[in-house]
Amino acid sequence: MKTISHWINGGYDEGKPVSRYPVENPGTGQIDAELLMASSEDLDRVVAVAREAQKKWAKYSLAKRTAIMFKMRELVLEHQDEMARMIVEEHGKNYSDALGEIQRGRETLDFATAINLALKGEYSFDISSGVDIHTLRQPVGVVAGICPFNFPAMVPMWMHPIAIAAGNTFILKPASSTPSAALLTAELYKEAGLPDGVFNVLSGDRHLVTEMLEHPGIDAISFVGSTPVAHIVQDTGTSHGKRVQALGGANNHAIVLPDADLDFAAQHISAAAFGAAGERCMALPVVVAVGGIGPDLAQRVKAHAEKIKVGYGMDEGVEMGPVIDAKSKERIIGLIDDAQERGADIVLDGRNLVVEGYEGGHFIGPTIVDNVSLESELYYEEVFGPVLAIVHADSYEEAIAQVNSSEFGNGAAIFTNDGGMARRFEQDVEAGMVGINVPIPTPVAYYSFGGWKESLLGDTHIHGPEGLKFYTRAKAITSRWPSEKTYEATLSFQRDE
Ligand code: NAD
Repeated sequence: MKTISHWINGGYDEGKPVSRYPVENPGTGQIDAELLMASSEDLDRVVAVAREAQKKWAKYSLAKRTAIMFKMRELVLEHQDEMARMIVEEHGKNYSDALGEIQRGRETLDFATAINLALKGEYSFDISSGVDIHTLRQPVGVVAGICPFNFPAMVPMWMHPIAIAAGNTFILKPASSTPSAALLTAELYKEAGLPDGVFNVLSGDRHLVTEMLEHPGIDAISFVGSTPVAHIVQDTGTSHGKRVQALGGANNHAIVLPDADLDFAAQHISAAAFGAAGERCMALPVVVAVGGIGPDLAQRVKAHAEKIKVGYGMDEGVEMGPVIDAKSKERIIGLIDDAQERGADIVLDGRNLVVEGYEGGHFIGPTIVDNVSLESELYYEEVFGPVLAIVHADSYEEAIAQVNSSEFGNGAAIFTNDGGMARRFEQDVEAGMVGINVPIPTPVAYYSFGGWKESLLGDTHIHGPEGLKFYTRAKAITSRWPSEKTYEATLSFQRDE
């Protein structure tokens, strides 16, 4: 059986493991590898390495840092097949979707290649006689990135390219079920010329994460994962003096107005609900059908969903893979059962799907549940599976109230041909990322990504300009030179009359 270790100071490192985590292939149900889980001692060592490396790395010229990021971008492109296969084997999503997440991650590398532009400061001449001011943005120091299982390449890439290009060093704690893409990333950074110790990977359990949040040698934490853990990260990290951004879970809704093109909407809703088996924080698990269109819409979505080929992610033509593990499958099926017991109608039932040749895999077929009670957990919880819940509203006002009643506020969308209604929605909706006839409105990397309410704790969104702000500290320098004729010193604030 393969052993997966850490990456510390430019090379693989087994450390002193406290335990071994079985890494399963969710498509087969086989345990293919064991992941070494780091000890406190390993954490102290990697932090010391990252602190030391940061002092030198921050002094690398912007020209050198930019060149490394360009090289890294090319290497990720060159190795995307290898990385995508790792993602399929550990996460289960289909190969083309794995390539897609790598591409979306690579966009942040594109942004990082322009770090020289992004880091430009401001300068004002003669703010007072002979006095000038300019600003700098300097790195925060050592950044830790704690990541979820569902985007093993993209989510870490939302973080490390900008953090590193801005002069920080980085410790990545990947999800234990999907660690391999992080280690390939480490190899590629080394090949790209990144100095040892700037990018490190350390795997571990929740105790290790807590120690990271409390560690005096770590300056900032980027977290992406579920909301309950985001709260732990935010509370513990900030109470230990760190900058924290903690992105949490989601339960994204789309409103479909009666004037929408229902064929177009149905096709896009099916793709957004069932892509990656619904294991995306920007998936679309809830549709609010307005003005009696629900039954028609449900049938149209069903017509698309029942054609989806579910299977092992590397097999030809497969569009949707399994969910991550047996526990997750059991929980999702339990939520569907519960909604049905509360009176919902099962329009398409994926609960009993078995994929031939992969009987040990954790598959659930696309499932559509209509007339879901607002009291059902299937409606108000994050399901994180291939399930679409349809609820009904008589008017736009009722629909938007339903959308805004969610504790989450990651993404939200509207399907309509009425520009005025779309404009109203964009103002009314309580979500950080909004789609107009776009069901997965994930911003490109030169904008920032983030939700509202329980979907994001902290002030800054991730990647793009807000990511850069998070990974840097502002400094304003006011200067004058005695050779200039300036005011005499006085004990009062200087008055320029
Ligand atoms: P998770 O919260 O279980 O785990 C995330 C990370 O936290 C992992 O590295 C894990 O090892 C660690 N962790 C887990 N429990 C912990 C604890 N008690 N204390 C400290 N650390 C702990 O999330 P997951 O199941 O890996 O990922 C799915 C979740 O991530 C979903 O809720 C999804 O919506 C969310 N997600 C959000 C976004 C976003 O941008 N908002 C993006 C992707 C995923």
